Amino acid sequence: MRRARRWVLGLAAMTALGSCVEPGLPPAARPAPVVVTTPPPPAPRMPAVPLGDFSFQGSMIQGGLLIGTAPPGTRRVSFNGDEVPVAPDGRFVIAFDRDAGPVATVTATLDDGRTVTRTLTINPRAWNISRLSTLPKYPVPMPEFEKLRPAEIDQINAARRQDTGAMGWRQPFMWPATGRISTLFGSQRIYRNGEAGSYHSGTDVAVPTGTPVLAPADGVVILASDHPFLLEGNLLMIDHGMGLNSALMHLSRIVVMPGQAVKRGQLVAYSGATGRVTGAHLHWSLRWRNAKIDPLLVAGAMPARE
Ligand SMILES: [Zn+2]
Repeated sequence: MRRARRWVLGLAAMTALGSCVEPGLPPAARPAPVVVTTPPPPAPRMPAVPLGDFSFQGSMIQGGLLIGTAPPGTRRVSFNGDEVPVAPDGRFVIAFDRDAGPVATVTATLDDGRTVTRTLTINPRAWNISRLSTLPKYPVPMPEFEKLRPAEIDQINAARRQDTGAMGWRQPFMWPATGRISTLFGSQRIYRNGEAGSYHSGTDVAVPTGTPVLAPADGVVILASDHPFLLEGNLLMIDHGMGLNSALMHLSRIVVMPGQAVKRGQLVAYSGATGRVTGAHLHWSLRWRNAKIDPLLVAGAMPARE
């Protein structure tokens, strides 16, 4: 009777254990029952993939432009805290102003909420500074300048705010005209009493009036002035997408219209000597958002003329 009862209890215990014992194991290999006192941690929502990293092409230097590629799974990229647009293939544009530095920060926020941050060291440059200690900074202001300039600035700013979706930012840039570089990007004059003039915002190419001017990359015309501006003269601005745009100044004639799509290398204007100049040349400025960029770093060394 006692023996029979013990057998029944043993069978009941085995049945209870039945679900956690692997079938087919010899009795000695059966694991002891485990008493779970704390609940298991929740299963992670995403598999633990290693964090990717950014990659960059371009010049990590003052006045330089970078094409970045965001880590896989990036939802959002910010540069110094400001969001920048990212193309479907993960590529984006950032640039360093002439006076940027010494570091900048790029952060990607991934779909799973994690972030990847890179601190970029911006190499400083020595700029061409000329001291003109006998000249005053401002020439005598003309009433005409005071009257007309605000509307011109408004037009330029409105052009820069346009987002055309142009894809030229993906291309290698070319020089809009070939010739001797007469004034470098970033050059600055210091006037009488040590007053600094604003630095040169682009690169000057010494070419005679009437020289064909070509689009440096694909884009959309965002400004084609129908009269000379006080400083820029006849001004043509081309959006290359992602906040990057070109300004071509002092033109004698513009042959494209606002809103027109242009191809890299397409004839867009003829050079001239309009606006505030001392002689005929082409001035080319490149900007990303508010950062002024050195065209030499983007288009490379000036090719030799044929
Ligand atoms: Zn210039």
